[in-house]
Amino acid sequence: MPDRPVVTRIAPSPTGAMHIGTARTALFNWLYAKHTGGKFLLRIEDTDRERSTEAAVQVIFDGLAWLGLTPDDEPVFQFARAERHVLAAQELLAKGNAYRCYMSVEETTAEREIARAEGRAIRSPWRDADANVNDRPHVIRFKSPQEGETVICDKVKGDVTFQNKDLDDLILLRTDGTPTYNLAVIVDDHEMGITHVIRGDDHLNNAARQTQIYEALGWEVPVWAHLPMINGPDGKKLSKRHGAQAVSEFDEMGYLPEAMRNYLARLGWGHGNDEIFTDEQAASWFELEDVVGAPARLDWDKLNHLNNHYIRQAEIGRLADLVTKIHVSRDFPLHDGDQDILLRTIPLVRDGAKTMPELADATVFALKRRPLELTDKIKGMLNEETRARLGRLRQALGAQLAWEVSDLEAALRGFAESEGVGMGKFGPALRGVLSGGSPAPDLAGALVSLGKPESLGRLDDALSQAA
Ligand code: GLU
Repeated sequence: MPDRPVVTRIAPSPTGAMHIGTARTALFNWLYAKHTGGKFLLRIEDTDRERSTEAAVQVIFDGLAWLGLTPDDEPVFQFARAERHVLAAQELLAKGNAYRCYMSVEETTAEREIARAEGRAIRSPWRDADANVNDRPHVIRFKSPQEGETVICDKVKGDVTFQNKDLDDLILLRTDGTPTYNLAVIVDDHEMGITHVIRGDDHLNNAARQTQIYEALGWEVPVWAHLPMINGPDGKKLSKRHGAQAVSEFDEMGYLPEAMRNYLARLGWGHGNDEIFTDEQAASWFELEDVVGAPARLDWDKLNHLNNHYIRQAEIGRLADLVTKIHVSRDFPLHDGDQDILLRTIPLVRDGAKTMPELADATVFALKRRPLELTDKIKGMLNEETRARLGRLRQALGAQLAWEVSDLEAALRGFAESEGVGMGKFGPALRGVLSGGSPAPDLAGALVSLGKPESLGRLDDALSQAA
């Protein structure tokens, strides 16, 4: 293990979406850097020029920013470093660890078939014959060891052994001189001072090849930690049909970033039975050895449970801003003063909300404009007797000065007693009049959300409507 300070990185290829697996990889790198007092870096692997648009790169910046996983340095762009990669290939050539291979496409295909039949990796006839014979198009291949084995000491998977005879001579530079992925990754990780490579286990095979190249260059091999996949709830590869797979989709569905961090941390890592923890706790506990080797499964119930927890903890002003955004996106008409209504309403309704859209739904009743449209069901409740009772209640509430939940609960109970009836005799009608049939908190809560003038106004409207 390198005795330098820990440096981790996330190295996404911009594809236009940030997969939840990439987010989890970023989180684990971030947690491990925090745990060790090291650094967490970002490298954009933008060598696929068609896919790596500015917008696709921005998606990664936005995803990390939303998740609160801020890199400790400016991002590194892989494409811009091609010259460095070529230099490393030349160094390998000079050392005799790489060679120019002039095999044509047809020759390579033929060799691949023979190699398959013989159960070995493909080998180029130029491996030991390279003499820069001519200027025909060629690639630069790594001269990988043919005997022995390469062992990856992986923090998650344990020791993984690869037989060298099974690993072909990797292309380092293509015919057009551009570097391949495995070369670029090694050079960049080395020059960025990366001590720990924590990434998806789809890269485990690459780790074997990369180890050989590190050794050929005489560079220190980083610590490997390959993380298992995140599958859908059914244990199959996570896909669209499981509801969401991109970070932006979880944002749009109304999950809070702190809930996502907590949830993603538990996907494949754990600290005893702790389900809910702060970032600081996760960082102080996070050891790569505790990452589970088996694939994790997305569990919507757990995510919803955690999101509800964090909605209940969140600062009200922040929730009000998020709810406002949702209403705006739905073209729900908002007015001056609605912010105050939201600040009063959210504490009373948030306990039941699993997502931000659910929280927004729960505030609709309070944001409606007078006169409310009453459903037929509510109108049906407003018979003569109930109207008369609500009229008397309106008087009582008009005289009520203290307008907190407990005061209003006491006032409503007192009113029911004075009328000699149970709450059921007027509660549902009052609720209907105050909410217009939208979901609303308990009566006292609804009165507090609306405030006194609006509550009395809604009662007056209903009572003055023709029976
Ligand atoms: N760019 C690679 C990917 O997005 C990651 C490479 C790495 O982490 O080494 O899968």
